[in-house]
This record gives sequence, structure tokens and C-alpha cells, in this order.
Amino acid sequence: MSFELNKEQVKARFLDPADNFREKIFSLEVRHDPLTGWASLIYSGMGYPPMNKPYMEELRKGSDTCPFCPGNIEKATPRFPEDIISGGNIRVNEAVVLPNIRPYSQYSGVVLLSKSHFIGLDEFTPGLVTDAFTAAQSFARQVVKHDPKACNLSIGWNYMAPAGATLSHPHIQVNLGIYPVPAQKSVGDPSEKYYREHGTNFWEELIDKEKKLDERYVGTIGSTCFLVSFAPLSRLFDLLAVFPGKSCFLDLDNADLRDLSTGLIRAFKDLREHGFYSFNLAVRSAPDCSEHFFCHARIISRFTFLSPGTCDRSFMEVLDNQMFSRISPEEVCRSLKKYF
Ligand SMILES: [Zn+2]
Repeated sequence: MSFELNKEQVKARFLDPADNFREKIFSLEVRHDPLTGWASLIYSGMGYPPMNKPYMEELRKGSDTCPFCPGNIEKATPRFPEDIISGGNIRVNEAVVLPNIRPYSQYSGVVLLSKSHFIGLDEFTPGLVTDAFTAAQSFARQVVKHDPKACNLSIGWNYMAPAGATLSHPHIQVNLGIYPVPAQKSVGDPSEKYYREHGTNFWEELIDKEKKLDERYVGTIGSTCFLVSFAPLSRLFDLLAVFPGKSCFLDLDNADLRDLSTGLIRAFKDLREHGFYSFNLAVRSAPDCSEHFFCHARIISRFTFLSPGTCDRSFMEVLDNQMFSRISPEEVCRSLKKYF
């Protein structure tokens, strides 16, 4: 093993008004991601905040103005030019891939998961999610065939408003272009450096280490490995689904996509148990087959709390690049394991 998972303790002192102004020592833990160096502060035991709850009836209602609802897709959504996607769109059962009306890259697609305007976290099925990822993969393959230089792929899912979704209708975004997104470089470049310096794949070593430690290893479905991040990028929940031996999303087979979807459905159950209804997901994929990288998906919880709806990101996360977590990753793992 060529890396350590280090935890540092930091102590702060103050005079506590709740204890007659006696001196109190507050301990917090600092963790650095072993690959990227990103820092996370861990406040073990701070617990779940009183999260704002949405009006489910309102979310569930389809809308005449929702472009993704049946009847509106044909009228209100664009189609791909024939030379990029034959037939103008891609369909896999209920999943449909359409061009993003606000493109984020040269080839920017939106995958609708379902005809339903709203699907609760506890209502997704492995079939629906697998079809969406299969449709995303089909779109990516056709784009790369049309334009081999556009091989840098980013897949993202904003589920519900706290995660940045402007529409409740469930959808995934798939972007391809000449350049990788910065987060792909942030994990891809050090993975390559690690392989050059140590002659081994960081991700393979990470899986081995986490399995041995058995503190953040959630489980394996098929060949897909689920781990809670050592240094989380979220205040409460940060789960990785890693595909051993596969560096590019286009290399995943049907079983891999099914395993990912099955794991996500189990993770959704845990999120619901703790009162969440919103998350972000991103897939990190190398542009081609490589020895130094394993393709993976990362899912983090999102929420608002207090009144009138405090965001779960502050200057620390958005400007200082310093994350903090209200509970330990090990506690998150213990909860998730019930469903795996
Ligand atoms: Zn809709």
C-alpha cells in the first residue's frame, strides 16, 4: 500500500455559557482525500439537522408547462440533427434522450427517466434507473462515433431543487466534449501520477484497503464496489460506486449498469430513512481504456434547513474548497449496510 488514510485532530477552546463559562475544548477531525488532497472537517455526532420538507403533492402534480411531461415532449423539446443521432432522439423503454435546450458542452443531452412528472426516492426501480444509464451510454457511444474527439464524458443527476434541479421531472444530464470537466482532471491526473510513481492502480488499492479496514466498505453488487468516502464532499452522505477494471463509462456492460442501479436504489432507501429527498450524482469516466483509473459514480445528499431554507453549502465549500460533515463516514456506512 502506498498511501495512508490520515485523520488529524484539531482542538479549539472557548468559555461555554451553557456551563457557567467554564473552559470547553472542542475537538474536530481533519481528513484529506488520499488521491486529491481535498480536505473535510468531521464533526462526529453533530447529527442530522431539521431538514425542510417539500410539499409532495405539489411536486407530484404534472404541469402544463413541464416540457418533459407526455404530450409536451413532441411540441416543446428539441431533437438532435440526424447526422448526430439518427431519428432525432434515443428511447430505451420509458427513458428518452433529448438535446439539452441549454447545452453545457458541444454535445449535451438530457435523459428523461420516466413519463411520470415526479418519482419519490422510494419509488425508483432498478429497471427505470438502468434504462436511463443505458440510454445515456447509447447517446455517448453515438456521439463518440460521430465525433471521436468528443470523448470526454460527464454524467450528472440533480434530483430535486436543493440539488439544483429546475424541474422535478426526473432527468439525467450527459455532456461530451473535447475537454474533461475540472473534476475529472482532479481525479484523473493524480490517478495517472500514482500509477506512474507506484506502478499500481490507486483505485484497486483503495478498494483492497477499505475492504480490509471494513469501516467504510458498504458492499459489492456483481462486480461493482460501494464505499463511503473517507473525506466526504457532503455534510451528511457521500457514497462511491466503483467499477473495478473499467476506466471508461462506455466499457460498462448491462450487468454493470444494473448493479449500479440496484446499489443506488438501496442508497435511496437509506437517504429516505434519514429524511432526505434530494441528491447530486456524477459519473467520472476516463476518455478511453486506461490502466490507472477506475470509472465510478459519486452520490451526495443535498438539503435545505431552518427557515427560510438555508442552503447546505457555505463559503467553506463554495469558496474555500473545504468540506465538512456533520456525522462520520463510518456512521454513514453502518446505516447504509442495512440495505446491502
Ligand atoms: Zn413533467
